[in-house]
Amino acid sequence: MEPGVVWHTFHAGPILSTTGQPGSRADLWCRSTSTIDNEVGTAGTVSPVYLSLRWNVMTPARDLANWSAELARFPGTLKRASRRPVPGCGIHVLDLVPRSPVPDLLLVGAGHAHLYVVKRAGELAAAGYRVQLLAPRYFDYSGVASATAAGVLDSDAGRIDVRALVGVSGVEFHEGTLESLDPEARIAITSDRAQLSYDVLSVSIGSVVEPASMHVHPTVLRVKPLSGLADLDVRLRNSTRTSAATVTVVGGGATGLEVAAHLAVRRDVALVRLVECGPVVGADLPAGARRRTGRLLAARGVDVRTGCVVRGVGERQLVCDDGSEISHDVALLATGLSAPPPLLAELGLGDENGVPVRATLQHVDRDEVYAVGDCARFLPGPLPRIGVHGVRQGPVLQRSLLARLRGECLPVYQPQRRALSILDLGDGVGLAVRGRWWWYGAGPLRLKRFIDRRWLRRYREGGTPSRRAGTRPWFGDKPR
Ligand SMILES: Cc1cc2nc3c(=O)[nH]c(=O)nc-3n(C[C@H](O)[C@H](O)[C@H](O)COP(=O)(O)OP(=O)(O)OC[C@H]3O[C@@H](n4cnc5c(N)ncnc54)[C@H](O)[C@@H]3O)c2cc1C
Repeated sequence: MEPGVVWHTFHAGPILSTTGQPGSRADLWCRSTSTIDNEVGTAGTVSPVYLSLRWNVMTPARDLANWSAELARFPGTLKRASRRPVPGCGIHVLDLVPRSPVPDLLLVGAGHAHLYVVKRAGELAAAGYRVQLLAPRYFDYSGVASATAAGVLDSDAGRIDVRALVGVSGVEFHEGTLESLDPEARIAITSDRAQLSYDVLSVSIGSVVEPASMHVHPTVLRVKPLSGLADLDVRLRNSTRTSAATVTVVGGGATGLEVAAHLAVRRDVALVRLVECGPVVGADLPAGARRRTGRLLAARGVDVRTGCVVRGVGERQLVCDDGSEISHDVALLATGLSAPPPLLAELGLGDENGVPVRATLQHVDRDEVYAVGDCARFLPGPLPRIGVHGVRQGPVLQRSLLARLRGECLPVYQPQRRALSILDLGDGVGLAVRGRWWWYGAGPLRLKRFIDRRWLRRYREGGTPSRRAGTRPWFGDKPR
């Protein structure tokens, strides 16, 4: 055998090979022969680990006809076979992806629903899946994001170490983000250019603030991704200003209201402006709750500007449609959450409204693709972008993944008609809302802390996060 030439063999079922490590990528150079040898490989061991290898075989162009004929002798062996020329040298690369009897499940993003699935990945593996997760190392929980941004709770109070969670659940973890997708070939390309093939894909990549109708300077912060809120805290703490800062929050929905109320009690913030294009702040709240929070904002000195349509937000000032200008030291956008728009379109899965999914949480056109949480557009009826849907979709996704392997009927997601949401308004008070019912005071915040703590504990290893001096404890904290 020539040096550098690696022989391999295909059988009607699994691939035998004497090379390669589990999960590795093998480059096989086949310079002089177009024969898929049936004998050498018999020395190898049949092992499912080899079945997940992806083989790149380089072959002279003149031998391609033979290769195709050889491959045709083994129908069902390969999941995919494609070829591409290497310019200028008459060599072609054959991408051969063996069909695995173990279906590859790829979870993209460690959103709420996926954290649930990852925690129960043992069930999926036992049922026959190979489970992979592609996600950033840390997940930040939005329920405590305003409190961490305001410095009330530690900056890591809502942080989950996804790698640690995955380590105890037997899932293969790829740290990074999804960059692109080939839905036909069923390959996901990661931020470090790795290629992950899948049979079943589930996407839970959350939402972003991406106002389409205004020009926004790159330094302007956004409430989502949550790193924007963390940056706000850092910016306020590390400011070289001698006086306290003026912060403008753009968007007077529930999130803008929560963040503005919180920031107004920070000592390093002199003035909070809350700018809303509609006639009222907190338009979705029951009227009584709206009046109560209006009084709270007034008592904390928040400068509320309604009916102000913002055209552009610069580093130091924003411009309204009527030409008026409002200055600030820091601006924060809370203009509503949308599914990551350029990414979903580039992936070929959806748009800023989300990945269109049926009641089964499957993509409207692709049975093998699921989407959950904020990045999904639930076709049976629009859902607000709140964490509770991601949380409740987790068990449905898990059951669906198991059911499809067993050939059973897939479960459907039935959203609650009215979900409980609790705003943390800072300084020890909260507002709980469910439909037209509302409750204001210290009690709702205590309830929120209890719910958030319980949820976070499920996904954290090792208990209490560290405390920064001067901040209030997270576990066992008492609202004032
Ligand atoms: C300040 C604030 C406070 C909020 N408070 C509440 C609240 O109290 N209760 C409530 O119900 N809702 C709240 N929300 C709404 C809530 O944040 C969202 O509805 C919820 O986070 C959506 O959950 P998710 O699981 O879809 O995605 P997320 O929680 O956003 O998680 C998505 C994950 O995917 C990762 N990701 C993103 N892009 C990629 C990629 N390309 N590849 C791989 N991974 C990727 C992200 O890093 C993230 O970890 C709040 C929102 C904000 C902004």
